[in-house]
Amino acid sequence: MSTIGRIHSLESCGTVDGPGVRFVVFMQGCVLRCQFCHNPDTWDVNKGNQFTPKQLMNEIVKYKSYMGFSGGGVTFTGGEPLIQAEFILEMVKLCREEGISVALDTSGFVFNKTVIEALEYTDLVLLDIKNFNPLVYKTVTGVALSPTLEFLDYLRDKKINTWVRYVLVPALTDNLDSIQELADHLKGYPNVSKIELLGFHKMGEYKWKELGMEYMLADTKEPSKDLMLKVESILRTSGKPVTFNA
Ligand code: SF4
Repeated sequence: MSTIGRIHSLESCGTVDGPGVRFVVFMQGCVLRCQFCHNPDTWDVNKGNQFTPKQLMNEIVKYKSYMGFSGGGVTFTGGEPLIQAEFILEMVKLCREEGISVALDTSGFVFNKTVIEALEYTDLVLLDIKNFNPLVYKTVTGVALSPTLEFLDYLRDKKINTWVRYVLVPALTDNLDSIQELADHLKGYPNVSKIELLGFHKMGEYKWKELGMEYMLADTKEPSKDLMLKVESILRTSGKPVTFNA
């Protein structure tokens, strides 16, 4: 019996959520409440369009050759895709059967038996670490940091290729001491093959307004190039390649 997935939207030729050309699936549902979230319209798991795994797979396979040529694949993001772990499990199995590479973009907050099984069919995890200071993490996301670090430990133990993502928000996540601590921490994770430094932007601000929610970062500016370079150089002390989008 198939599980129904609730999906916010699909993007057939994504290039920023993993290697190559990607079919990106934006899943509904998230338990975090990140101040800088640009997809707050994904938070409610009861919204979105309903798909069976087979229906979604029919969409994905149309782009299989593009994905294959470019070294790409499918990325499940959101929202937090692992809120719908049963559906993700069915999808990652189907992708494996089709020989399509899978990336999971996650906060690492949800961890259970189904997630563990889904990770067996996952080629790359894009792990979003919103901050390395537990107090700041709680302020930024509304939840605790420790599940994400435990998730990272699991990925290391299972040798699952992982890219760590860090969103740099001036006056919120630019605590340089904690970024240095994150870089030091990642030295112990050979499975982490890259760090992606992402500059804060306000492209999702209008969604907060449409949903009638207060956008707390209305007066926050995008990070300067100097700040991005500074943080990039700190993250490089981890010994990992670092990319950034400014
Ligand atoms: S984890 Fe992602 S989708 Fe959820 S609130 Fe944070 S930025 Fe938004």
